[in-house]
Amino acid sequence: MRSVTILGVPIHAVTMAETLAWVAEAVATRVPRQICTPNPEFLMTARRDADFRAVLQAADLNIPDGIGLLWAARWLGDRLPERVAGSDLVGAIAAQAAQAGWRVFLLGAAPGVAERTAALLQAAHPGLTIAGTESGSPRPEDVERLVALITTARPDVLFVAYGAPAQDKWIAAQRARLGVPVSIGVGGSFDFIAGRSVRAPQWAQRLGLEWLYRLGREPWRARRIVTAVVEFPLAVMRR
Ligand code: UDP
Repeated sequence: MRSVTILGVPIHAVTMAETLAWVAEAVATRVPRQICTPNPEFLMTARRDADFRAVLQAADLNIPDGIGLLWAARWLGDRLPERVAGSDLVGAIAAQAAQAGWRVFLLGAAPGVAERTAALLQAAHPGLTIAGTESGSPRPEDVERLVALITTARPDVLFVAYGAPAQDKWIAAQRARLGVPVSIGVGGSFDFIAGRSVRAPQWAQRLGLEWLYRLGREPWRARRIVTAVVEFPLAVMRR
């Protein structure tokens, strides 16, 4: 699959439709695979976190989850077809899972949020099979319990919502023994679906301004947003 390397990390040139087709193929093949959802902050974190960088470089699919990556690709004389948001992917995979009979497991977020997200996904996609939900934590002392819980539940798709880089490192370390065909770190997606945080309106997303909307609603993210909107473009241009 074609990719564009940005700050040393390959970003795959996929659309949402191609991502869903890739997931279907991976579920059929049953080899444990990992999807990451890099955005500019991921790549800036990976510059100083070698473990995270290695995880991103080894991921089977890195979807372009940030308008800044599309701009960076163009600056480098290349092209990524569209932004594929991890938060949109959760609902899209749930729809496909309901059709195909896949079992999905939701791990992470604050207590009760994964459960509520699962109930809302089931209401939106009748017939969806939830293999399990669990808040848990990415801490080492929780690993054995969570791995036992997930392997017993035998999901086809595992969503992990611990935020980056913790979620992605957790999946990379456990995926071989989990044996789940597709595992994805989904950040704050459960919070969006469960209504604990609000996604930017479609028009703002289309204009590439989701970050600005998020800055207005969640000003404590200012530091992260400066990283994405100022420091990331400078880093790309300096290369
Ligand atoms: N989280 C968690 N356990 C932790 C740390 C974080 O469950 O030890 C969850 C948190 O509740 C939230 C998600 O991880 O649901 C991180 O969301 P954030 O909005 O920071 O991620 P983003 O979407 O920006 O990647």
